[in-house]
Amino acid sequence: MALYRDEGVVLRTAKLGEADRIITILTRNHGKIRAVAKGVRRTKSRFGARLEPFMRADLLIAEGRTLDTVSQAESIAAYGASIAVDFNAYEAANVIVETIDKLANTEHECVPAQYRLLIGALNALAKHAHAPRAISGSYVMRAMSLAGWTPRLGACVVCGRPGGAYLSIASGGVMCEADHTTDARRVPPRAAQELQALIQGDWTVLDEAPLQRITEELVEDWAEYYLERPIRSLRLIDS
Ligand SMILES: [Zn+2]
Repeated sequence: MALYRDEGVVLRTAKLGEADRIITILTRNHGKIRAVAKGVRRTKSRFGARLEPFMRADLLIAEGRTLDTVSQAESIAAYGASIAVDFNAYEAANVIVETIDKLANTEHECVPAQYRLLIGALNALAKHAHAPRAISGSYVMRAMSLAGWTPRLGACVVCGRPGGAYLSIASGGVMCEADHTTDARRVPPRAAQELQALIQGDWTVLDEAPLQRITEELVEDWAEYYLERPIRSLRLIDS
C-alpha cells in the first residue's frame, strides 16, 4: 500500500463504525482529503486529540482503494485548545473550516495559498490577535477571492465610473445611483470600508470597531451566493 506524508488541518470528523472516524483534512500538498482514523474514539487512542477539528498535524497516510487511512499523526500546532476556551473564537473557527470545506470540494486539488490562508486565520484566532468575527469575515472574503470571487468595489460595474453606493452580489460588485438594479443593496461608507478591509486584511481599519451588522450580512450573502449553499455556522452567529 502506498504511503504519503503531508501536513494538514482537520476540518471535521464523522463517526465510522464502533471506534473509528472519517477525518476531513485540508492538506498542504494534496488538497482536501478524507481518511479513516482507526480506533480514534477509544479512550487510549494512539492519536490522542491530534485528529480533532482545528488541529494542524504532520500526517503519514496510507492510500486505500476507496478511502485512505491515517497511519501516523504528529501535532504541529494545537490551535484547538486555545480556540475552544473562547466561544466567539470557537464560532469563528467553525465558520472558517466550514467555508474551506465547501470551497475545496475537489479532492486532491491542491491550492497552497488556500492552505496558508487557513493556517493564518486559525493561528490569529488561537492567539486572540483580533476580534474573532473580523478574523472569520476576513478569512471568508479572502478565501472566496482566492477562488476567483472578488467583489469589484472600486467602480460601478455597469458604467465604470469610480465609486458606487450599492452592492449587487449577483453582478459581482458596486453600482452607482443611476445604474443600480433592484437586487443591489445600499452600502453605507463605513460598511464599504470594512468590506474592502476584510478583503485586504487591513487590520488597522478592522481593529477600530466591531464589524457593522450590514458588513457581516454582506459577507454571509456573498459566500452563500457564490458557494451556492449557506455557511451554516454563519447562520448560527446571526441567531
Ligand atoms: Zn454606474
